[in-house]
Amino acid sequence: MLLCAVCGRPATISLSYTSRSYCDEHFWRLIERRVRKDLRIHAAIDIMKEYRFRDDGSPLADLARTFLERIFGGRLALVVDPEAAPGPDVILPVCLEEEASARFLRFLDPSLPELSGIRPLRTVSMEDVRHLLPRVALRVSAHPLLEGLRAVEPTVFFGVMSVLEKET
Ligand SMILES: [Zn+2]
Repeated sequence: MLLCAVCGRPATISLSYTSRSYCDEHFWRLIERRVRKDLRIHAAIDIMKEYRFRDDGSPLADLARTFLERIFGGRLALVVDPEAAPGPDVILPVCLEEEASARFLRFLDPSLPELSGIRPLRTVSMEDVRHLLPRVALRVSAHPLLEGLRAVEPTVFFGVMSVLEKET
């Protein structure tokens, strides 16, 4: 039986990109830590400010809101605006596949607009989302070339992201 790498109880989650397995609780904490760290490094959120949140009613939007609540304890003022245009004070529910695709396209065509907005889920892959929200059917497609790379090497999204971070 696989055991959680953190608490040693029976694991419920195994992932393609790591040999470690997790129970539900420690998987949530793992992803929360990843989101928290990414926000700290890339998107200094000021809890004195008000942010617009592009809540399109999607499961990703619910998940982004859940992590923001877990991390900021409800102290972050969010104004829901389903059509908020990207900007420095806008929070967008974009997952890793969408982030990587957008960056990849911009890598190919630098005339495309720069990504802007706070994207709390940009390090959270669809595989992660499927484990976080097991009862939700969700379809997000990445750029076909990225999907092809992933078929060869499951960790590719993380690798691609680190390369694109430097390039774009
Ligand atoms: Zn555990």
